[in-house]
Amino acid sequence: MRFDIISIFPELFAGVLECGILRRARQSGLVDVRLVNLRDFAKDRHRSVDDRPYGGGEGMVFMPGPLFEAIEFCCRAGDWAAENRGGAGDCGAENRGGAEKDEHSQVVLMTPQGETWSQNLAAEFATISHLILVCGRYEGVDQRVIDSLVDREISIGDFVLSGGEIPAMVVLDSVVRLIPGALGCGDSAVNESFSTGLLDCPQYTRPAEFRGQAVPEVLLSGDHAKIQKWREEQALEKTKRARPELMNKK
Ligand code: SAH
Repeated sequence: MRFDIISIFPELFAGVLECGILRRARQSGLVDVRLVNLRDFAKDRHRSVDDRPYGGGEGMVFMPGPLFEAIEFCCRAGDWAAENRGGAGDCGAENRGGAEKDEHSQVVLMTPQGETWSQNLAAEFATISHLILVCGRYEGVDQRVIDSLVDREISIGDFVLSGGEIPAMVVLDSVVRLIPGALGCGDSAVNESFSTGLLDCPQYTRPAEFRGQAVPEVLLSGDHAKIQKWREEQALEKTKRARPELMNKK
C-alpha cells in the first residue's frame, strides 16, 4: 500500500515512521510512505502556499495552485514506489506534472468538517492501494481544491488542531496496522476494541499479585472456555459502562 502525505511540515512525520509497526511495515515493503512538501510546488521566491481569504477575515488559506500541482503530482501513475522503497523521502518538484488520476488512488483531506474517523473506516481504507493525505494548516484550503480533487474529507474528532499532520498520522497508523502482515506476533488486531463492536477486556501480566492486587483467579485457571467467557462478560460490562452507545450499534 502506498501513502503520499502532502504537508508544509513533512519533518513532523520522522518519529512515527521510524518506530514500531510503521517502521517494520515500511522496511518489509508492505507500505511505502512518501512525504511531499507542499512548498516544493510554490511559484515564488518565498515558496508561498497561502494567501488571505477573499471576503476578509482572520487567518490564511492554502492557495489552489500549489495544492493542485502537489495532488496531481501524487496522482500521476508511475513507479515512485520502486524509487522510494525502504525510505520515506521528501520528493522534489522536478518530477511533477499533471496526469490522469489512478483509479485506485483516493485523495483524502484532513479537516474537522469531515466524516469522523473510526475503526470501520480504517478497515475500509486498508483495502485501498494508494492514499493521498492532504494536511491543511491555518484556516484550511481553498474550496476549489475540495470540489475538484478531494474524494474524502476525514476528521479525527470534534475539536480543532492547528494542522492536519497529527490527523494524518492517526489515519496512517490505524490503517497500516490492519494491513495483513503488518502486525508482529506481539500484536493482534482480532479482539481489539471496536473490531468486535465492543471495547477490549482488561489485560493482566505477571506478577500474579502486585501491591496487594491479585490477578482475577479465572485467568490463572488454565480453563480456556471459562477464560473466554469471562473476557466476553468483562468486555460487555466495560462497554455498557464506558460507551453505552456502542451497545445500540450491535
Ligand atoms: N478553519 C477550519 C479549521 C482549520 S484547522 C475550520 O474551522 O473548519 C487547520 C487544519 O488542521 C485543517 O485544515 C485540517 O487539515 C487540520 N485539522 C484541524 N482539526 C482537525 C480534525 N479534528 N480532524 C482532521 N483535521 C483537522
